[in-house]
Amino acid sequence: MNLHEYQGKEVLASYGVAIQRGKVANTVEEAVTAFKELQVETGTEAVVVKAQIHAGGRGKGGGVKLAKNMDELKEHAANILGMMLKTPQTPGGMEGTGKLVRKVLVAEDTYAPDFDACKEYYVSILMDRTKKKNVIIYSTEGGMDIEAVAEDTPELLHKEYIDPHMGLLGFQSRKIAFNLGLSGQAFKEMTKFISKLYSAFVGSDASLFEINPCLHTADDRILAVDAKVSLDENALFRHPDLAAMRDTTEEDPTEVEAQSYGLNYVNLDGNVGCMVNGAGLAMATMDIIKLSGGSPANFLDVGGTADAARVEQAFRIILKDDNVKAILINIFGGIVRCDRVAQGIVDAYKNMGNITVPIIVRLQGTNADIAKTIIDNSGLEVQSAILLQEAADKVKEVIS
Ligand code: GDP
Ligand code: MN
Repeated sequence: MNLHEYQGKEVLASYGVAIQRGKVANTVEEAVTAFKELQVETGTEAVVVKAQIHAGGRGKGGGVKLAKNMDELKEHAANILGMMLKTPQTPGGMEGTGKLVRKVLVAEDTYAPDFDACKEYYVSILMDRTKKKNVIIYSTEGGMDIEAVAEDTPELLHKEYIDPHMGLLGFQSRKIAFNLGLSGQAFKEMTKFISKLYSAFVGSDASLFEINPCLHTADDRILAVDAKVSLDENALFRHPDLAAMRDTTEEDPTEVEAQSYGLNYVNLDGNVGCMVNGAGLAMATMDIIKLSGGSPANFLDVGGTADAARVEQAFRIILKDDNVKAILINIFGGIVRCDRVAQGIVDAYKNMGNITVPIIVRLQGTNADIAKTIIDNSGLEVQSAILLQEAADKVKEVIS
């Protein structure tokens, strides 16, 4: 689950990580109040107005603007709130439709008084599954596109692996500060920053922290100016306060609806809808669709109970995607009996009445033979298959 920048910074601050302070605003009036309060609380003269959407590169699209006075603040807040912000990371990129901005973060100008004396670093933490360790990736080349740094100057990108059992050790945060070229007060501040950041990462069960830029101010403070935070959804039950930060308006509406039914659905850009039970079988099904020349329109795991009601919900979700030219249903009847699933498919199909795309069904496992008879005798535009390859071949036939 992704957080907005302002929420990510709240999480960081709750672990004592130094951040660029700010206040979130939904309207120009709220932005005005935020500006006044920030001036009193932080002593800042200018502020940055930052669009809050679940995508980075906002600066490039005009979603981050410096306001030196109240007039500029009003102007930027009015322009950014409600805009369709295009960044390299929004759907379709800079040429796409962009994302609607519903909130802005009004933040203190941490680069004052001397922008040029500030230095921007890059710091991120994530898990390296093959190494079975967490890794802190960092660079002196912050503020810019880190992918470009990795491509052009990989020697400027450093990695520090952290054994999850040992945790971050003192020498590791010192090594990071050293490799960033720091000394004196800034060196101390950076070791503190890294160690608190790591505690926040572990404590919030995050899967990604990306601080870009991590700022080194002229007076040797180190703080997070930006925060991209993704949390591990499987651990959210341990963090009701973080779970409450979810913003479904930023997510794919069909995926949100599917979740409300307990369906594991991920929208993809192909043309063959998939309805499968079990994540592993769903992946294998997507593979065989690809190998047969098709392209999956979605990942959908209906879970253990593939009854008529659930199959119908799954049909509805899959058919919301106009690109779907065929649906492949692939169910393994282990605990759930295939004949019940088959009846569920037939009932759902009849009940919906408006399904126009061809459907290919493969049911294997308990009572598969009875299931095939039910499908074949249903009189519906549904084809059955025994082997997965056979099913994939039929899909290929109907989409080509
Ligand atoms: P992103 O474009 O979505 O990554 O948004 P960031 O929060 O990283 O901000 C983009 C850029 O805006 C930064 O790299 C800075 O150059 C600039 N910026 C952010 N905060 C401030 C600030 O407080 N003062 C000034 N002068 N510039 C800022
Ligand atoms: Mn950034």
